[in-house]
Amino acid sequence: MDKSAQKILIVGGGIAGLTAAVALRQIGREVEVVELNPQWSVYGVGIIQQGNALRALDRIGLAEKCIAAGHPMGGVRFYDLQGTFLFEVPQPPIAGPHYPPGNGLTRSRLHAILQDAVRQSGATIRLGLTVATLAQSESEVSVTFSDGSFASYDLVVGADGLKSLVRRLVFGSEYQPTYVGQVCWRCNVPRLPDVTTGWLFDGGPHGKAGFIPLAPDLMYILLVETPPPGPPPRFPRECLPAAYRERLAPFGGPVALVRDRYITDESEVIYRPFETLLLPSPWYRGRVLLIGDAAHAMTAHVAQGAAMAIEDAIVLAEELESGDPLPQALDRFMQRRYERCKALVEISSQLSQWERDQTPDADVEGLTRRSFEIAATPI
Ligand SMILES: Cc1cc2nc3c(=O)[nH]c(=O)nc-3n(C[C@H](O)[C@H](O)[C@H](O)COP(=O)(O)OP(=O)(O)OC[C@H]3O[C@@H](n4cnc5c(N)ncnc54)[C@H](O)[C@@H]3O)c2cc1C
Repeated sequence: MDKSAQKILIVGGGIAGLTAAVALRQIGREVEVVELNPQWSVYGVGIIQQGNALRALDRIGLAEKCIAAGHPMGGVRFYDLQGTFLFEVPQPPIAGPHYPPGNGLTRSRLHAILQDAVRQSGATIRLGLTVATLAQSESEVSVTFSDGSFASYDLVVGADGLKSLVRRLVFGSEYQPTYVGQVCWRCNVPRLPDVTTGWLFDGGPHGKAGFIPLAPDLMYILLVETPPPGPPPRFPRECLPAAYRERLAPFGGPVALVRDRYITDESEVIYRPFETLLLPSPWYRGRVLLIGDAAHAMTAHVAQGAAMAIEDAIVLAEELESGDPLPQALDRFMQRRYERCKALVEISSQLSQWERDQTPDADVEGLTRRSFEIAATPI
């Protein structure tokens, strides 16, 4: 076995970092996770796990837990502004016959599943901490932490998300996420009985609304909106429910029903701009590697950001397990990850662009199908 990546530091205890911690512990590596957020909580409503995310989680034994905690999904149904059904893009069951094509679950449940698995794996977790400096030699990375402590590692994995500090420390400030000109509104509400998979409502210039099932009793209602050009508008937190209802006002059918019945002034509405980033290959320098949103972030149009983060973690563990020296393992990691992530970043950006420009005859169905095909190819 290659001994050059035995002791591994993971910076960031989100989806990428936690999956990597479990996968790397399963191949016998010594793993330490540092997470900036002292509460280790997660912000957001729910997440769609496409079949490729389930397939990757299956390799570390966590897919079934996610399905048990969520709601199965089988494709995407498209409707017009008033709720008239247009077409459905079915999803292949790519994780295998015993798994649904996709799964929706709350972010907090996914986080709890990953956190439990990391605790059980024997990884060390340090909360409320980040890196202050990283210095590499040929044989190790020397790290000072924000509390003044110090340690050396064989490999540092930057899994610290869109605004990655590790990316800035190692790759410089040149690579920053770009706001694409769209924002997303979401709110958890009781599930309508008919909503058994993703529903999207094309509101033309009013944006795209949708429902995503998350559990037998829960779904979220979303709106992807294109605000006027300029930076994303900001709202005080207490104004979000009213602003969300106002933006959903042009929609009829089930969207109007959910808006009027369930988005109340007390509702927790999550509002996020869409940002994108694709770090050129390779995503490593020496013994520091970036994974997840730190390396590639995409809009949510094909719901593949977290799936790519999970796949990164699984592929990294597979390549390190091969026993080859670290440079070869990281090189092969890039060969397996770059083009795949790039294709999905580009598809997401294209779908976002079509919505922003209100492109007539945009082939949304074709591109959505293409994203499913890419997701289905083996990693
Ligand atoms: C509106 C919206 C909807 C989405 N829906 C989906 C979906 O349905 N399906 C899907 O697959 N993807 C979806 N995504 C994308 C998905 O959320 C991300 O791709 C995914 O969260 C990336 O995981 P990550 O671990 O790389 O980053 P994060 O989830 O951002 O985790 C990063 C972690 O690092 C920590 N951290 C940050 N800085 C530091 C630091 N300096 N030191 C230590 N720790 C640090 C953070 O606290 C956090 O815990 C969506 C994104 C958006 C914006």
